Amino acid sequence: MAEIEVPEEITYQGIPASPGISIGPLHVMARGFSAPEVYEIEDSEVAREQERFGAALEVTKKQLIELQQRLEDLAGGKESDIFEAHRMLLEDRAVVDKVHDAISERGQNAEYAFYAVMQNFLEAMRRIPDPYFRERTADLEDVCQRVLRNFKGDGEVRHQVPEEQHILVAYDFSPSDTAAMNRRHILGFAAELGSVNSHTAILARALGIPAVLGLDGTVIDIQTLTPGILDGYAGKLILHPSEETLTHYRTLSAEKAKVRTALEAMRDAATDTTDGRAITLSANVELIEELPLVKRSGAKGIGLYRTEFLLLNGEEMPDEAKQTAAYSRMAKEMAPHTVIIRTLDSGGDKLPVEPLTDPEPNPFLGWRGIRVSLSRPAMFKDQLRAVLRASAHGKIAVMFPMVSGLSELKRARAALRECMDELSKADIPFNADMPVGVMIEVPSAAVCADLLAPEVDFFSIGTNDLIQYTVAVDRVNPHVADLYRPTHPAVIRLIKRTIDAANANGIWTGVCGEMAGDIRLTPLLIGLGVEELSVGPHQVPRVGQAVRSLSHAECAAMSDEALKKGHSYEILGLSLALARKYYGNLLD
Ligand code: PEP
Ligand code: MG
Repeated sequence: MAEIEVPEEITYQGIPASPGISIGPLHVMARGFSAPEVYEIEDSEVAREQERFGAALEVTKKQLIELQQRLEDLAGGKESDIFEAHRMLLEDRAVVDKVHDAISERGQNAEYAFYAVMQNFLEAMRRIPDPYFRERTADLEDVCQRVLRNFKGDGEVRHQVPEEQHILVAYDFSPSDTAAMNRRHILGFAAELGSVNSHTAILARALGIPAVLGLDGTVIDIQTLTPGILDGYAGKLILHPSEETLTHYRTLSAEKAKVRTALEAMRDAATDTTDGRAITLSANVELIEELPLVKRSGAKGIGLYRTEFLLLNGEEMPDEAKQTAAYSRMAKEMAPHTVIIRTLDSGGDKLPVEPLTDPEPNPFLGWRGIRVSLSRPAMFKDQLRAVLRASAHGKIAVMFPMVSGLSELKRARAALRECMDELSKADIPFNADMPVGVMIEVPSAAVCADLLAPEVDFFSIGTNDLIQYTVAVDRVNPHVADLYRPTHPAVIRLIKRTIDAANANGIWTGVCGEMAGDIRLTPLLIGLGVEELSVGPHQVPRVGQAVRSLSHAECAAMSDEALKKGHSYEILGLSLALARKYYGNLLD
């Protein structure tokens, strides 16, 4: 009798975009974005084509309203704003007029005219070097596909997936694909494109669907119904899992479910150490639509609002009124907790506030953060007045990024004082005692922390940049990623120095870089004396439980030892030993 060949297990590695484990058959979706047919139309057909275009737009808008409603019901939050933005795109005169012109002046059929106009926009957006901005092109593609499908009257066809439970696999998923996913049938999803910052990933986390994006292989050739496992913790898609792998994942899944239930039960518990030291646990936010997730996470405030992400929706910073509205909404939604608004940190690897005439040879050492704000006083003051005006509607604090020394801090504070005077004169209310902080993320600021501390109410250590500048390792360059060491002795000495200066001046110190969310390092940071940890919303429950499991005294003794060590691995080892001792079950 011929032996039955058992297919070999294959693993695709990707980015863990939304946590969770799914086990089930795969359903692979075809790529859905191809150029429509192009044909010339007669003059007598122009009106009909314009009408077809109008009808496709109307149907699309209706679908987007329905999706928005559906997402509001599912996620109960503002994630659905994404679809409002999509809808506005369809109402953008620049787009609509161009399509009308292409139909009437160039005699193009409606779907091709629309496709060609959108391709131009997409090309322009793809040329912007910022990865986050490039992600937004996915939104535009999403709307474009939807309209094209609606010309044919099959707008939802991409979502016709089997009734049986399955893991959905595709080249790419748009935010609306994700929002339209039926949780009863879709166990998880994986795609070749996408990153942790994409709206698709944000939605997957908000909807609680495990997801892996940016897979390192061509997935669309995979056969539908192939048995698979999706590991949203480690970012893996496994095909034809062996019995051993299946058992491993079934056990892991049960353990994670237990941990999740336990963490959820603790959501509102205070984050004090076992010996009573209170640690504030807050969240980092880039987009206002993350607020519902932040609130559900149990975070006690926002420790870092990266306002440069406001630049995504337009070429320049929104005006004072729009910023006031955005900050006020945040303050109201997060009440009674504090929202720390960081002034614009454009440049470096982020979006520039205005096009540069010459590209910078070293953007990370260039026109970035407070340097930009101080050289554009009108724009800086618009932002400061907006922050102050919002401070009348809730608890708001402000902090300055990329400060390298006392002069910059004094100039920033002077601008803030001017804004206060202007608002007072105009009888516009604000909180005159609004806390003012400075980010410690440039080594010179850490070394001079004793000079900065008397000028502010708090320090927030930006470890992402502090590490890159201290050990001279570009934070986004994969070739030197292994040299990027959060526990380098120089880094932890600078953190210690910063906290000592803060303590001597009676102010508190937080950490808002990625290091704050790494629970292997929670013992070290608490031991060094950090009083606030601001982390990504989905990390809040785990970091909270880590804090509650530790004794400050034990962490402090460990950190004293760590400060004497010469190697990053030794320091990591000491911190990890405490993490394992008190919450090994939370470590991945
Ligand atoms: C940091 O540098 O650690 C930080 C929080 O700021 P960003 O990552 O936005 O530069
Ligand atoms: Mg930074």
